[in-house]
Amino acid sequence: MPKRRLMWQLFASYLVVTILAISVITVYMAISMKKLYLTEVSSDLKARAILFRDQLIGKDSILFAAHVDSLCKKFGHKSATRFTVILPSGIVIGDTDDDPLKMENHSNRPEVIDALSGRSGVATRYSHTLYETMMYVAEPINQEGKVVGIVRAALPVTDIDHTFGQIYPRVIIGGLLITLILGFLSLYISRRISVPLERIKLVAGHYSKGEFDHLLPPGNTIEIDSLTNTLNQMAVELKEKIRTVEGQRNELDAVLSSMVEGVLAFDTSEHLVNLNQAAARMLSIDREQVRGRYVQEAVRNIQLQNLVSRILKSEEPQEDEMAIQGNGGRVLQMHGTILRNDKGESLGALVVLNDITRLRHLESIRRDFVANVSHELKTPITSIKGFVETLQDESLKDPRDTERFLAIISKQADRLNSIIEDLLTLSKIEESEKAEILLEEHKLRAVLQSAVSICDIKAKAKKIAISLNCDDDLCAKINAELLEQAIINLLDNAIKYSNKDSEIKISALILESEVAITIQDWGVGIEKRHLPRLFERFYTVDKARSKELGGTGLGLAIVKHIVLAHHGNVSVESAPDKGSTFTIHLPCL
Ligand code: ADP
Repeated sequence: MPKRRLMWQLFASYLVVTILAISVITVYMAISMKKLYLTEVSSDLKARAILFRDQLIGKDSILFAAHVDSLCKKFGHKSATRFTVILPSGIVIGDTDDDPLKMENHSNRPEVIDALSGRSGVATRYSHTLYETMMYVAEPINQEGKVVGIVRAALPVTDIDHTFGQIYPRVIIGGLLITLILGFLSLYISRRISVPLERIKLVAGHYSKGEFDHLLPPGNTIEIDSLTNTLNQMAVELKEKIRTVEGQRNELDAVLSSMVEGVLAFDTSEHLVNLNQAAARMLSIDREQVRGRYVQEAVRNIQLQNLVSRILKSEEPQEDEMAIQGNGGRVLQMHGTILRNDKGESLGALVVLNDITRLRHLESIRRDFVANVSHELKTPITSIKGFVETLQDESLKDPRDTERFLAIISKQADRLNSIIEDLLTLSKIEESEKAEILLEEHKLRAVLQSAVSICDIKAKAKKIAISLNCDDDLCAKINAELLEQAIINLLDNAIKYSNKDSEIKISALILESEVAITIQDWGVGIEKRHLPRLFERFYTVDKARSKELGGTGLGLAIVKHIVLAHHGNVSVESAPDKGSTFTIHLPCL
């Protein structure tokens, strides 16, 4: 059904009611007036008939026809009324307007029939004698308890119709005028009713857009006023509620986005309802794009999908791990629980992700370390044990063998010693790393000089020249003892992996915002593929050679940890047979 504006609906209803009311009133009035007029005429005619009857009763006999007829004509003309005197037989014996002898029997006239029964008779009909509509009132003439005749008075009522014919247009014009005035009034009233509703509609529109600052003015009726009050109150409460909800949401968002753990919320149909930034980052997905998607579409990971369905099925907390390919590979630990509302009904599942890649990496480093240590220690111990058993063998009598075996045992014991010493150094540095080592402003030249003099004997043995290039005033925030140890390790390697008669250069200078200490040699160098793992514990390029040279594979690991404890880093550039350059980068003062 087509919708119309309330104002026009009201106006149309008012107009219909007004037109109906005016029409009904007009018709009713016209009918009543006519009725009243006819009643007036009939009582007037009755009075005239009675008066005329009294005139007749005064005569000796009403049956004296000629006399009656002349009376009818005389009184009739005087009073402009048509009088007719009829005998009970219906014979007319006198009439104002006609000759009674020519007139037909009147016994069948309704008013005459009524009068014959002793009461007044009234009738209105068209007169064929006078050719117009007449009203007739007949009164019986009683003598000695008998109806001896009837007096009938008649008046034309064409005049009435004529009069009413003149009145009707005026009444219609008046009615139309009133309708017009009432129409304007209806329009005004309709507007007065609809305008506040229009205003309410407008403001409700603002509310639906979340704009609650528009308040309604008080209404002009009790109903509208109470409606505007309710709406205003609703707006204030809604605004407050929305503010609270927004506040809570912001708080929740702030909590979720500042969490290191990834958080994912799923509904009961396994659709991803919400996730925080950390989760999006961990899973490498776009937060906005995956929101509302089915778990399989949102995150392409079977472990997560299984975990979510397990949580929703069992309603028990679940745990699992997921491996993410790409980006170096990550391991995420997943803890999932069921999400419930205040009434304890299940709303979905909540999954918290923890990035345990580092933990797993550390675990594997520890495992490797233990394996490496065991392996490194086992080799000299096995060797020592083997030679000791050989020595215990009484069949071995050659003192030269004994001496050789003892030398080997001593060498292996030294190796054991140096491995343990290196391990202790490493663990000491790691401990001090945790507790922050004491760093003091110190001149670098003294430290480097001391390291050079310690390694000098070894260098001289291989006829290697060590040159030092460092400003006397160059200072850095260092732990002199530890840094010296790192330089010794690097110098020791440079000597070990350099050929005889070669050269080693140590220099320290300020580069941009750091102090760079460089140890350069022109020795065997290192293949590029080994460089990334060079600073790992027990990592050696050539195990046999390293062992031969008394290396433990821990020297560079010690260097790395010492430099880290100085908030710096160590880098290496090397090429086989071209030599190596190790650089310690320390932050400037
Ligand atoms: P090692 O005790 O075996 O020397 P490091 O941790 O000090 O252990 O060194 C690890 C490996 O790095 C060594 O086995 C060696 O192969 C390589 N390396 C270290 N320094 C040098 C260098 N200056 N020249 C060539 N190779 C080096």
